[in-house]
Amino acid sequence: MQVPAPFEYERATSVEHAIDLLERLGSHARVVAGGHSLLPMMKLRLAQLEYLIDINDLAGELGRITIDLDDSGTGEIRIGAMTRHRQLLESHALAEVCPIFRDAERVIADPLVRNRGTLGGSLCQADPSEDLSAVCTTLAANCVIRGSRGVRIVAMDDFHRGPYETAVGDAEILTEIRIPVRPGGSSAYEKVDRRAGDWAIVSAGAAVWLDGDTITDARVGLAAVGPNTTGIKPISDALRGQPPSEEAYALAGALAAEHCRPVTDMRGSADYKRHLADELTRRALRRAVGRARENRAVAS
Ligand SMILES: Cc1cc2nc3c(=O)[nH]c(=O)nc-3n(C[C@H](O)[C@H](O)[C@H](O)COP(=O)(O)OP(=O)(O)OC[C@H]3O[C@@H](n4cnc5c(N)ncnc54)[C@H](O)[C@@H]3O)c2cc1C
Repeated sequence: MQVPAPFEYERATSVEHAIDLLERLGSHARVVAGGHSLLPMMKLRLAQLEYLIDINDLAGELGRITIDLDDSGTGEIRIGAMTRHRQLLESHALAEVCPIFRDAERVIADPLVRNRGTLGGSLCQADPSEDLSAVCTTLAANCVIRGSRGVRIVAMDDFHRGPYETAVGDAEILTEIRIPVRPGGSSAYEKVDRRAGDWAIVSAGAAVWLDGDTITDARVGLAAVGPNTTGIKPISDALRGQPPSEEAYALAGALAAEHCRPVTDMRGSADYKRHLADELTRRALRRAVGRARENRAVAS
């Protein structure tokens, strides 16, 4: 069935208004951002809602990318929930500090989806294959959630509660994500899909920090190999203090394959996905280290 069930439509004029509407209309109301995930679900009657609260008028307030770093390169990136895929793809300032966003956006969907789809919608959809969720997991982002009782900040590792479930409550909205930035690091994203712009069979993000020729910290986030995008903590523990090398990437790849939880489906067998988790983890780490070294060469 390609027609949604009847619903009422409201247009929020501010974050407070959106929260007020959610509170008043109860659990049968849902916000709609780009609509690229919610509307297909409504057409397929996988989601049946009485009210849709359109938050597109909040794009001015919640659609900004702010990069605030001191001279040493330490600071924070704030990205509003209504920031569209296209903005994330096109921001040179963001690509300079966190190239993983541009890597991921180059392989997300197509221009039609990227023109409307938002960061907030991607994270709140909580699809285990969502690329931006894997990016935010890799970068240890914090999610800012607002409701009538104030603001809560939830770490990305705790934001997803299961497939299609998040920490956002009934009368709350995600307003922003915050990414801590430290000097000496870089990031990268690798994805294998069945055709250009499709959802991942598996994808892997990596962020690394170097001091000289030692890895001081590393994070890997995977999509499509578990109930939610997954951060593989044993990889961070294994890589800290190691020199970046093919042996270190191979160890990380093996840990990714061991700790992910893929299932066999139309996109591939669980064994094939484990193989991809291994290979894509190695590639993402190799590329992130290369970029961190290039940054250092430019800085010196
Ligand atoms: C053809 C196609 C191909 C795609 N390919 C990919 C792909 O390769 N990789 C990928 O990662 N994604 C892909 N997507 C998904 C795309 O990235 C969507 O834009 C994204 O999943 C949802 O963003 P949205 O703004 O459209 O959210 P919506 O559909 O508007 O909302 C999704 C959910 O999030 C909730 N929500 C939205 N904003 C907020 C907020 N601020 N606070 C609280 N709840 C909120 C909504 O209530 C809803 O439950 C694809 C989509 C399509 C249609």
